Amino acid sequence: MDEHTLADLLTQIYSLLYQRYGPQHWWPSDSRFETIVGAILTQNTAWRNVERALANLKAAGAMSPARIRETAQDELATLIRPSGYFNTKARKLKAFADVLGQRHHDDLDHLFDQEPGALRRELLAIYGIGEETADDIMVYAAHLPSFVIDSYTVRVLARLGVISGKQPYHAVQALFHDSLPPDAGLFNEYHALLDRHAKETCRKLPLCRGCCLLGLCPTGAAAVGLSSGDLNE
Ligand code: SF4
Repeated sequence: MDEHTLADLLTQIYSLLYQRYGPQHWWPSDSRFETIVGAILTQNTAWRNVERALANLKAAGAMSPARIRETAQDELATLIRPSGYFNTKARKLKAFADVLGQRHHDDLDHLFDQEPGALRRELLAIYGIGEETADDIMVYAAHLPSFVIDSYTVRVLARLGVISGKQPYHAVQALFHDSLPPDAGLFNEYHALLDRHAKETCRKLPLCRGCCLLGLCPTGAAAVGLSSGDLNE
């Protein structure tokens, strides 16, 4: 697919999703630090579990880098237990809080006020922060245009025939970066819409009849018995 065709297709997908679901208001949090904590806790678990862990941290007065450093690791693990993998995630929260304190005086503006590539490399060097979590932090806390790729994004794009589903993270991310304007607000909304669509409609067993993307989707067309000539009509 040439880059103009891909840009048109990605823009069309976004428009249809936005018309269908409207603004998603991501990331739900009271502060940028809470967004980062949520980005770490949401690894391998559903958001409703993260909400319970975040509520525990707030109720214990532990929603700050200093308090996360001061809180004993086993105590921190107990607070975030609802998010699963709680011992590992407690270590990850402490690792982030340590870096933020040692290098940035607990000042997120200081962390974020660097060249985006350098920021992403610094995040990726912290224990427990992989590409998806780093990009969650870049977009939803630092408000920088770094498209988040997750399993929901891959599922929807693969069914739409945009990707094979086997490309590495950076290759899928590059499709968005090379095709869309570098707009953090757009990347925020687009990723949130893809996740909403994957959870509600393009589920493991997709609900193709009535899907807003059916006219663009070869997988959906096959599922509901449309011929390829019916697509985009
Ligand atoms: S038509 Fe089906 S497979 Fe295609 S995006 Fe919609 S729900 Fe997913």
